[in-house]
Amino acid sequence: MHFKQDFFEQLDGFYSQVYPLPISNPHWLGWSDDAAKLIGLQKPNNELLMQLSANYAAPGASYYAQVYSGHQFGGYTPRLGDGRSIILGEAIGPNGAWDVALKGGGPTPYSRQGDGRAVMRSAVREFLVSEALAALNVPTSRALAVIGSDLPVWRESQETAAITVRLAKSHIRFGHFEYFFHSESRDAGKLTQLVNFTIQQHFTHLSADAAGYKQWFYEVVQSTAKMIAHWQSIGFAHGVMNTDNMSILGDTFDFGPFAFLDTFKENFICNHSDHEGRYAFGQQPGVGLWNLKRLAQALSPIIDADDLIAALNTYQTELVNQYLSLMRAKLGLPQASINSNTCTQAAQAELDQQDLQLVGQLTVLLEANQLDYTNSLRRVGQIDPSSSYCTLRDDMVDLAGFDTWYQAYQKRVGEVADVNAWQGDRNSVNPKYILRNYLAQEAIIDIEESGDNSKLLQLQQLLSRPYDEQPEMEDFAKRPPEWGQGLIMSCSS
Ligand code: AMP
Ligand code: MG
Repeated sequence: MHFKQDFFEQLDGFYSQVYPLPISNPHWLGWSDDAAKLIGLQKPNNELLMQLSANYAAPGASYYAQVYSGHQFGGYTPRLGDGRSIILGEAIGPNGAWDVALKGGGPTPYSRQGDGRAVMRSAVREFLVSEALAALNVPTSRALAVIGSDLPVWRESQETAAITVRLAKSHIRFGHFEYFFHSESRDAGKLTQLVNFTIQQHFTHLSADAAGYKQWFYEVVQSTAKMIAHWQSIGFAHGVMNTDNMSILGDTFDFGPFAFLDTFKENFICNHSDHEGRYAFGQQPGVGLWNLKRLAQALSPIIDADDLIAALNTYQTELVNQYLSLMRAKLGLPQASINSNTCTQAAQAELDQQDLQLVGQLTVLLEANQLDYTNSLRRVGQIDPSSSYCTLRDDMVDLAGFDTWYQAYQKRVGEVADVNAWQGDRNSVNPKYILRNYLAQEAIIDIEESGDNSKLLQLQQLLSRPYDEQPEMEDFAKRPPEWGQGLIMSCSS
């Protein structure tokens, strides 16, 4: 790893230097070749294992924990910060630099009551989901590796510690800006410094001046909307959309009790501490906007309120357009009007409304008939739109409801010149394999019981090609067995 230290060198006062503490008897539980390439690494080796488990110092690393605050479940916590994630610096890769962080690397000045550690089960889940989302083309932080140990840690019972080696283009969160806005000194100088740094590092096409700030916030709104549109299209529930878990780059970030939908359920809640369903699957688009408003408020000392509000007002349109575009691809609805020559803006708007309705009606049918979201969409790739038979019908109870939907769908899809190619296109955007909670759980149980990580490796391999048929892995596409339905993940991680 070759580090630069821009954050560390330029943002004194935005972090605390802190050295990670080693985990004992470290061993690789998982390693991502794809993530490794991002920072110019090849294969794992013992030297790296010792560095990433904090047993040896990594040459060129600075080791620091960033300070930030955030709104947690709607309430403001004035000081959070990296309580268990220690950043080594920005590792230089062939296409840019990535922060390398040891999540679970030990206590920091921001640990409050926590021990600074991550338990194996949560480290494994973060590793698997980061790489799975990347393979699904969802903007996300990455995971280079997960390292197991025999260090005991206490949660509800005794468990063992592990470290996820997280790669992120940036660790700057909405909460960083909130911290300097809300802190007693209302430090606009620091706020400006942080905005300038963010722009200079990550929005290099913009200038660090009033015009640049305005455009920058607009782009943050847009990328957040895009990210959440992706989540909704693949049935991903993040679970803890606190503002301290929102990356300023619109990357999916800080994984806890996340889950992919099995059976489609608009109000699905994956976080068992979320009694009111604040972060239920269907609430995510609205929460994204709420979080952006908290960010906008924090930026109000340096960006005109009118400009902030104008940018916020573009959120919903961007999210809906992105979602619609992703869902059209999944369902094989032509992106533009069939008769594009005569397409006016009004006609396009009407078509958008019709398509949104078609998508919405399908999700209502899936929910009412208790069908699996991923598997149902995957079966779109078996449809011949010219045929009155549709494989999705086989599992429906509400046949009349489905028939009405399918007729409207067929009409909208229209003539398909090459059905095989059309079906192939559907399969290239509707994954066959997702990280179902029960699959992650099975991999975790094997490691807990016998240290056997072969299921984890198998799952990682499978999820790196989520769109490909992998006949020997067919079982992994199944709906969860009874014990794995509605698994509720603990927030203690
Ligand atoms: P999270 O829910 O993981 O986003 O964490 C919320 C806050 O709690 C962050 O400031 C974390 O750094 C901190 N935190 C979570 N778990 C621990 C832990 N075991 N030790 C110290 N801090 C933690
Ligand atoms: Mg967090």
